[in-house]
Amino acid sequence: MKAMQLDAVGQLFTREVERPEPGPEDLLIRVEACGVCGTDRHLFHGEFPCKPPVTLGHEFSGIVEAMGGKVTGFAIGDRITGDPNIACGRCVHCANGRINLCRNLQAIGIHRNGGFADYVIVPQKQAFLLPADLDPMHGAFCEPLACCLHGIDLAEIKAGGSVVVLGGGVIGLLTVQLARLAGATSVILSTRQAVRRTLAEELGATATVDPSEGDVINKIAGPQGLVPGGVDVVLECAGVSETVAQSLKIVRPGGTVVVMGVMPQGETMEIEPFDLLFREVRLLTSFLNPFTHRRAADLIAAGKIEIDTLISRTVSLNEAPNVVSNPPQPGEVKVLVIPGL
Ligand code: NAP
Ligand code: ZN
Repeated sequence: MKAMQLDAVGQLFTREVERPEPGPEDLLIRVEACGVCGTDRHLFHGEFPCKPPVTLGHEFSGIVEAMGGKVTGFAIGDRITGDPNIACGRCVHCANGRINLCRNLQAIGIHRNGGFADYVIVPQKQAFLLPADLDPMHGAFCEPLACCLHGIDLAEIKAGGSVVVLGGGVIGLLTVQLARLAGATSVILSTRQAVRRTLAEELGATATVDPSEGDVINKIAGPQGLVPGGVDVVLECAGVSETVAQSLKIVRPGGTVVVMGVMPQGETMEIEPFDLLFREVRLLTSFLNPFTHRRAADLIAAGKIEIDTLISRTVSLNEAPNVVSNPPQPGEVKVLVIPGL
């Protein structure tokens, strides 16, 4: 079978490898689609630790082709989505129900061979059933959606509430949709690229702003802004400290900021604790997808998330190294690798 493997930093190749054999509790999945994520690019550049040589790809779905003798609840031919983040279940954090913080976390596509391949091994506890008639490309969005769902859960959006999303990549555009589903009546997206602002408005954003033109804090939370005095919830989905700083000013007193973006390691920023205290701002961070993958799969299965317009292009496994080793093209939201191409 074909697989795209990272041999070392900057060394990414699609090659023939042996098809893996499922262990007793594993499913062998024929990959239908696997999304390219910013993390894959960070792994390529050595900005995120992994265990090369490894097949990348952690946003995948596909069809059960074979399974180990101890697998129950799945049948050959089922379509599934895999939650790539495998917690040990035994460490102090797992015991506290904080499985995303597991001390022994192993991720498919980072520490074990992943979904940029014809086949991937998925432990049965990491697999969730998808409808037989689902568009195979939609299944690949369960993992990023599950990460956004964790952020949305932490934000505790109330029906009728106001929400700002900073950053209009795939995470921001999925988060806009979840904020609407959570009942927010005002959902404002700030992102620089005009195509993404237009897309966000089609996906349910009630307003968009261009942060490169004028003061975004004033435009949103100023006296003449979209929500004078600030919004109930800000979800930071850009991954730059500038937007974290904006979040703390756009949120209203008593409101909640959830940081989902990943800043470069070691980067620091200034905050004013006095201001945070007297406005009792709740500043939270959201990491991975603890216990949200099932609901993400259900949302996608139910057609509640618009996905087609988020798919910028599809590429084969042979083209995939070129995609991962280069920055995203302007306007691009999500590139899917289709092993069958
Ligand atoms: P992405 O495609 O890079 O999207 C981020 C977008 O933010 C950029 O493309 C950019 O779009 C926008 N942006 C940059 N600077 C901005 C600014 N000053 N103001 C407003 N927008 C700005 O990445 P993604 O895949 O959507 O992921 C977003 C972030 O979430 C990344 O940091 C990623 O690592 C992180 N992430 C976190 C989790 C988690 O579990 N917490 C899971 C997945 C991803 P424009 O060019 O349009 O401005
Ligand atoms: Zn653990």
